[in-house]
Amino acid sequence: MSVERNPQAFENAPINWVPAIVLLSTPLLAIVLVPWYLWTHGVNPAVWTAFAFFMAWTGLSITAGYHRLWAHKSYEAHPIIKYFLLLGATLAVQSSAFDWCSGHRTHHRHVDDEYDDPYSAKRGFWFSHMDWMLHKYPSGQYDYKNIPDLKKDKVLQLQHKYYGIWVIVTNVVVVGLAGLLTGDMLGTFLIAGLLRMVLTHHFTFFINSLCHMFGTRPYTDENTARDNPILAIFTWGEGYHNYHHYFQYDYRNGVKWWQYDPTKWFIGLLHKVGLAKELKRVDDVTIKHAEVTMQFKRAQERITKGEEMTLDERFMAFKDRISAEYEAFTQTVEEWHALKAKSVELKRTEFANRLHEADEKLKEQFAQVEAKILAHGERIENAYLQLKGKSTQG
Ligand SMILES: [Zn+2]
Ligand SMILES: [Zn+2]
Repeated sequence: MSVERNPQAFENAPINWVPAIVLLSTPLLAIVLVPWYLWTHGVNPAVWTAFAFFMAWTGLSITAGYHRLWAHKSYEAHPIIKYFLLLGATLAVQSSAFDWCSGHRTHHRHVDDEYDDPYSAKRGFWFSHMDWMLHKYPSGQYDYKNIPDLKKDKVLQLQHKYYGIWVIVTNVVVVGLAGLLTGDMLGTFLIAGLLRMVLTHHFTFFINSLCHMFGTRPYTDENTARDNPILAIFTWGEGYHNYHHYFQYDYRNGVKWWQYDPTKWFIGLLHKVGLAKELKRVDDVTIKHAEVTMQFKRAQERITKGEEMTLDERFMAFKDRISAEYEAFTQTVEEWHALKAKSVELKRTEFANRLHEADEKLKEQFAQVEAKILAHGERIENAYLQLKGKSTQG
């Protein structure tokens, strides 16, 4: 999808009535009704338990479902899990899977572009947080060409076609059932229904707004996405958004073991009990490489800007980069050894007439590994030249 670059079309975008009414009225109702109810009636612990359960269910359904499963295909889930997540995501009232995922894939593809990114951070906090849904902006009109895989799914088709009915029925029936369990129907609807929905809305919206404004950029500075551990707390781990924009197919967003990413743990747990498979992860060396390249780039920028950097600091940046390059190189060498072993094995077992064919394939693979080794060498050379060049100037 590409949008006509016409500022007028954005300025004159008509109001998107249904989302506008829902998104503007629900926070107001929550702010007024929830304190009133707590003040006049109070609620029992069962209602708070229902609230916590619905927060977790609907929150994880957005992150592990709409986001990491359907939008990014970062793992495969058992049908039971799929339905559980689809139900939770419908309860979250964040539009159909088709709309959510189509918009999100466009966001990744055209990140920060003022015309093509549906929630471009370049249009400011308000636009990227909510306004993109309140008006019918050209960038919000999806043609669904980027979700051919999802369009084949019969259940997702139904959810999209009858989305309004799905939302009303699930919220009335499922929250109503919880109300029967807690024994406080109105309290459950206000706390586990309304308040939960408003909070989940804005925590998700924070990723598009705040997570493109505040935080660090350890992996890339080519876009506005940031790593923000505080936002990760509210968003089931999605705060590590810089990593996510660089390696979007990884099922993890907080990639270090100590980073708070409950969605990653949830998917890992599903995998352990056989309910998820094909978890996609970027290997450690590639991640380290991105990080170190970024550190080196920063050091270079500081030197170019004429900022004071001690020889020690410069040397540290250089050393980190070399050691990452060394790790990557070790991995390449391992690949080369594996290939070599394979070729010996092949020569022993393949029939003479197929040897030629196998040989051609191996030759190609060897050439690829050799090219990789050359690239490592070039990068090390570059790092060294940059360090030397700048240090003699400075
Ligand atoms: Zn994403
Ligand atoms: Zn983003």
